[in-house]
Amino acid sequence: MAAHSRLLQLLIIVLFGTFVARFLVKDIPAAKRVVSKVRLFRACSDDRYSDVYDKPSDPALAKEYALVNERHFGGRLPTIPIRWEPRLGEGSDPGPAGLRVQGLWHKCGRRIQILVNPVLKSDAHALRRTLCHEMIHEHLYASGDTRTKHGPAFQTVLQRLLDEKAFEGILATESDKGFLRSWLSQEKSALASMDRDLRQERDALHKMDKQFDRLNARIRLANVAGFGGPSDSDVEALEDARNKRVFVINALVRKYNERGGEFNKQVKRYNIMVSYPDGLDEENSFQPNDPAGGYVDQKKRHKKTRK
Ligand SMILES: [Zn+2]
Repeated sequence: MAAHSRLLQLLIIVLFGTFVARFLVKDIPAAKRVVSKVRLFRACSDDRYSDVYDKPSDPALAKEYALVNERHFGGRLPTIPIRWEPRLGEGSDPGPAGLRVQGLWHKCGRRIQILVNPVLKSDAHALRRTLCHEMIHEHLYASGDTRTKHGPAFQTVLQRLLDEKAFEGILATESDKGFLRSWLSQEKSALASMDRDLRQERDALHKMDKQFDRLNARIRLANVAGFGGPSDSDVEALEDARNKRVFVINALVRKYNERGGEFNKQVKRYNIMVSYPDGLDEENSFQPNDPAGGYVDQKKRHKKTRK
């Protein structure tokens, strides 16, 4: 009997204690921090990838990780699994801008891994950039910082790695990058519209060339017959019109090539821009655009067969 009542007392104390603890946790910042740390400790940052923890690292990625660790983190980062993950970026349509997730530092309980999008296999610079980014997450976590995502502490290490030339990149704010992205979209449409104009001008020139052929045929016939044929003013008028058109086309081609060259330069710049908005734990890249240009100046002269 006595044992039973003692057990009941204990149960009541535990229940009451839990209630008080819960109440306190809500109001005491330190307790709140402890709870959030425990939660963080147990949480999975993304459940989709928890099935690959036990798979071995990709040897090439592991080698690259070890190299960056040795050169830029004094070899202090722990060896963690790192592998290609084709599912990165899945479920989010790259869209017209072609944005894709490139890498992820992934934590599930005490287990940590780095996942890299296989699209980076063909781009060593982008791979290194992504790897450095994920390794900074690992560095912060390993040094006890479980709160920083892409905040000041992250940015400080990022700047150091950039200074040490760990990767090729330009530091930019998210708004800089957004501004350039919208400029690129606008410029792409402007170039497409110039391209349409050029095609129209060239079609018109082609029609004029056919007119010239017909005119030349008439001149040849007149030369044989010794009379008739188009008047000098008709020929000169067509010649003038054609020269003007060639001038317009060449000016358009020059402008197109200039703008196309600048566009390509900015696409390249965009792709090495490194910016991280707070709270976003994924990195995106802009898929390269088709290179503009490819036009050549053309100056076709009509044949004068008239004597
Ligand atoms: Zn990140």
